[in-house]
Amino acid sequence: MEMEMLHETGCDQLCSRCLNSCDHDEGPHEECGVFAIHEHENAAEMTYLGLYALQHRGQEASGIVTSDGKDLYHHRDMGLVSEVFADQGVFRYLKGSSAIGHNRYSTTGSNKIANVQPLLAADREGPVAIGHNGNLTNTRELYNELIGNGAIFQSTLDSEIIVHLVAMSRKETFEERLVDALSRVEGAYCLVILTKDKVIAARDPHGFRPLCLGKTESSWAVASESCALDIIGSRHFRDVEPGEIVIIDDAGLRSIKPFPEHNKCLCIFEYIYFSRPDSIIFGECVDKTRRNIGRTLAEEYPVEADLVISVPDSSNTAALGYANASGIPFEIGLIRNHYIGRTFIHPSQVTRDAKVRIKFNPIKGVLEGKRVVVVEDSVVRGTTFKKITGLLRNAGAREVHLRVSSPPIVSPCFYGMDFPTREELLASSMDVEKIRRFLDVDTLGYLTLEGLHKSVPNAGNTYCDACFSGRYPTSIPDNLTKKSLEVGSPNSHLIDALSLRYKS
Ligand code: SF4
Repeated sequence: MEMEMLHETGCDQLCSRCLNSCDHDEGPHEECGVFAIHEHENAAEMTYLGLYALQHRGQEASGIVTSDGKDLYHHRDMGLVSEVFADQGVFRYLKGSSAIGHNRYSTTGSNKIANVQPLLAADREGPVAIGHNGNLTNTRELYNELIGNGAIFQSTLDSEIIVHLVAMSRKETFEERLVDALSRVEGAYCLVILTKDKVIAARDPHGFRPLCLGKTESSWAVASESCALDIIGSRHFRDVEPGEIVIIDDAGLRSIKPFPEHNKCLCIFEYIYFSRPDSIIFGECVDKTRRNIGRTLAEEYPVEADLVISVPDSSNTAALGYANASGIPFEIGLIRNHYIGRTFIHPSQVTRDAKVRIKFNPIKGVLEGKRVVVVEDSVVRGTTFKKITGLLRNAGAREVHLRVSSPPIVSPCFYGMDFPTREELLASSMDVEKIRRFLDVDTLGYLTLEGLHKSVPNAGNTYCDACFSGRYPTSIPDNLTKKSLEVGSPNSHLIDALSLRYKS
């Protein structure tokens, strides 16, 4: 029987929300998740748990590097955390009391084994490993300079640029070389770095991505989101501040802030969609903020209806907020199949419509004859939501009112989220009425940008909202793309060769 991989039919990316029935139309794709721990007798296992909690931030690949004070040990591969570490014997090999880990979704560089993180390199002080969440923006310029100076890249990751800048710095200590390197990069980074005797965490001066610090009695941990601290029983101590570098070694924790202060540009989309609702990021609980967003949406776009449903799971919390504020009961109207694995295969004759049905099934008894408000966190290309409208109408919904808990997405992200190109974004070329007709809904309301800013915590925080406003807080070079280090570069052949070698 002829079979095909679902994700190959839509694009070459895995989608974390739709897993592999991917047309890149459901939502932006997550970036990466990082984790680190210092001074724990089960450092590798704790890192595994942390990465497990951060799985939503990247499903393409995963890796852990540990240190026993003398050497670094690593295990990295393509796949989910549970797949990469399915052989528990690997934890006997991952020795030592310090570790860093990384879950990858490719926001820079292809989905290839050579691009799996943490990256490993030999510094003059010894081996070093680095995990990166975020995207650098002056990538091409630095890459050309480094290649011109004789650097040989082992990946097409922007993260490797940092490694080369550290290696080429003339400063004396590793810490000084790292500061020197980071002073040259622009864009978004949350880094976890492991040397033989140190764990280092760094966050870019704008603070685009979240990074938090946890503490148990004897150890420090660092994670992209606090849900990864909860799972290892670590207390959420505080955030790693924008522009801060935290150095953890046997002497304890030290903090330096070596860069000039910048205005904060926290990613507002983390609150809408990316982060887990049980996490605390940027100083506030995501669940609480997402409910606020739903409440504001209900105030801005009220409608006469019988029930509120969500597109599970990422819209659940905003839908609850909408229901509470509007007084319209919240119901479960769509059931999501959580067990569509990354390797799900289907007969080739199954249509794209069926792929949506494989993932979502409406509950007829709930929807029949009802005026339904559907809350969705974001509409990117709109093709999947159009099919959801069909599912709801076929199940007997009398009216379908779409409420989107974000403003229209009009511009791509260059700070670590994988969006389609501007031309592919539905709202970049259609006004709300055209989108309503395209999605075949009775009414459509997007949260306003003002409503969004009103709903997120504002005490001392300022946010990046470039994907909604088109106003980028930093300069963006022309032609910056996810594959900036591959297109037209001899490096792509090197990466293909490395990928083959890893697989053999
Ligand atoms: S452009 Fe959008 S997704 Fe990217 S950092 Fe800014 S708010 Fe977040």
